[in-house]
Amino acid sequence: MILPHINKQSQDIFDAVKDIAGFIWQKGWGERNAGNISINITSEIKNSLPVPDISQHPKIHFEKTYPLLSDIILFVTAGGKRMRDIGKDIYSNSCLIKMDSKGESCHIQRFDDADIDLFPTSELPTHLEIHENLIKYKPEFKAVMHSHPSEIIALTNCNDFNNEQSINNLIRGIHPEINMFLPDGIGYVGFEEPGSYEIALKTAEQVKDHDVIVWSRHGCFSMAKDIEDAFDKTDLVVKAISIYLMCRSAGLKN
Ligand SMILES: [Zn+2]
Repeated sequence: MILPHINKQSQDIFDAVKDIAGFIWQKGWGERNAGNISINITSEIKNSLPVPDISQHPKIHFEKTYPLLSDIILFVTAGGKRMRDIGKDIYSNSCLIKMDSKGESCHIQRFDDADIDLFPTSELPTHLEIHENLIKYKPEFKAVMHSHPSEIIALTNCNDFNNEQSINNLIRGIHPEINMFLPDGIGYVGFEEPGSYEIALKTAEQVKDHDVIVWSRHGCFSMAKDIEDAFDKTDLVVKAISIYLMCRSAGLKN
């Protein structure tokens, strides 16, 4: 037991994240310290009494307010940590954050064996924006996953596919499963500085309409009810694009 208030439901979520982090590494979607995951575990933690008092823990003040995130608890992978290490030891490479009652700041709760300088992922602004929009539009969705699939980066480096419509036409046409499991297609954000509020806002705007949002020449975010389903959504998009690239590599047209 890592923290006294971690219950079986939370433990199951952490075990699933551990498996998925390993898959992200094996798939080649998380080079070096790339990729990050967050999960809204507020209801799991609140079912476990007593809810810990972490008011003395390190605090992060945000540049903006997230009113819909007041008092929520997020699991987040840590900045600078490798997916392959998260897959082996989730507790040394991630943390919990508890938002304050106004959504202006959060306290960080590290697990027992984590470094004292461990901080959440540098993409925290995007995760917070996404979670706020999920609460608003898709409240059953709790998991957010960011990764760097080479196929997505390769495709969005081509001028023919650096916009939402052309990517959607491509993946819908080449792999029928897209229409079954991602009927709204995928979102697209042009290249912006990673970790910035600009990219966070542009991503958040598309949460209402899409479960997968591509970041041009960078990777993608996917969101779902749990981390396994978020992984599957990215996997589906990557599969469609890889079929296209495979056909092109073989010299096939159309
Ligand atoms: Zn990234």
